[in-house]
Amino acid sequence: MDRIFSDRISDVPRSFIREILKVALEPSMISFAGGLPNRDFFPQAGLIAATAKVFDRKGRDIFQYSNSEGDLELRETIAARYRKRGLDIQADRILITSGSQQGLDLLGKTLLNEGDGMVIEEPGYLGAIQAFSIFRPRFFSVSVSPDGMAVDGFAEAMRQTPKLVYTVPNFQNPSGITYSNSNRKAIADVLKKSNAFLIEDDPYGELRFRGEAQTSFYELAPDNTILLGSFSKIVVPGFRIGWLVAPAHIQEKLVIAKQATDLHTCQFTQNIILQYLQDNDLDDHIATIINAYRSQCQAMLDAIDKHFPDDVTCTRPEGGMFLWAELKNGTSALDLFDEAVKQGVVFVPGDPFYLDRTGSNSMRLSFSTLDESTITEGIEKLAQAINQLHNR
Ligand code: PMP
Repeated sequence: MDRIFSDRISDVPRSFIREILKVALEPSMISFAGGLPNRDFFPQAGLIAATAKVFDRKGRDIFQYSNSEGDLELRETIAARYRKRGLDIQADRILITSGSQQGLDLLGKTLLNEGDGMVIEEPGYLGAIQAFSIFRPRFFSVSVSPDGMAVDGFAEAMRQTPKLVYTVPNFQNPSGITYSNSNRKAIADVLKKSNAFLIEDDPYGELRFRGEAQTSFYELAPDNTILLGSFSKIVVPGFRIGWLVAPAHIQEKLVIAKQATDLHTCQFTQNIILQYLQDNDLDDHIATIINAYRSQCQAMLDAIDKHFPDDVTCTRPEGGMFLWAELKNGTSALDLFDEAVKQGVVFVPGDPFYLDRTGSNSMRLSFSTLDESTITEGIEKLAQAINQLHNR
């Protein structure tokens, strides 16, 4: 029966997170497992008003097929936002995608042959591992620490002449770490000596609640970088609007891959987002999200400092939605998961974020969707579960 499936899909790991989310759906369960943006900050009224205006402006044409590159005005708006941040990006370099997740798929389709080398940070975003596994590359993992990607490990991996390098340099999913400027520079120096492209996947970059913005890889190595962005974490994820910025000759082929995949991104939601951006101050809206995530993250760190045993270490994110904790004494996060469910709290064990599933003493904790008191209560419960396991 298995012969019905392609080798391609057989190699792709299942999303463990989606399995966990089933347990997390129980109403009494406190969940640090989801990777969802906080629904309280979906700008519902603004989007409803924008929708009405889109109908007024475009009439029934809004239901028509559209161009593959994406709405030009939306691309110009995105380019202008980058230019405000000092990145010289023109609209014609931008391809609108169905979420940045589709950007990963299009890059795989356009650039990877089976067996091609691909460097991926570890722990790394599970959705990227899934997206690229479809194309059956030879993965080389390079570890990340609170400072960024291991430079020696990266230089060594680059000796295998990979075609692609996958990174989330800001508030990384899953670990919450941010590559420092000096780390970025060191990585970019190695990268620029190669023909590889670094994918700078940046859905969280605007959600900085502490510290200073670091230099984009796109600025450090523009000829070797493909930049991905998304409205998922700063407006809404359900519209599925993301984008990628690539050099002209790569962009041309990516548009062909886009056509082959889904012709174009939904023009209705592109236009609603565009109208919303024209009528509202996105930076104000982002500031509201940032303020909330800062407090939520702080509540989690305070509770961890107070309740977790001293030998559990964690990252201290400067933005985004996640932090990462490591258990010591050989404690397995998978064992802890079972104990934690009994206490009424769930998280994502670290395993699925490692290609060889060796992250078993670690866990991803998301702080984005819960209020401070629930976060504190959940961390207390998790601490009890850790102590139960230690005492066995
Ligand atoms: N990249 C990373 C690092 C992510 O965390 C996510 C969402 N969880 C995505 C890409 C996909 O986002 P989008 O909704 O834009 O497809």
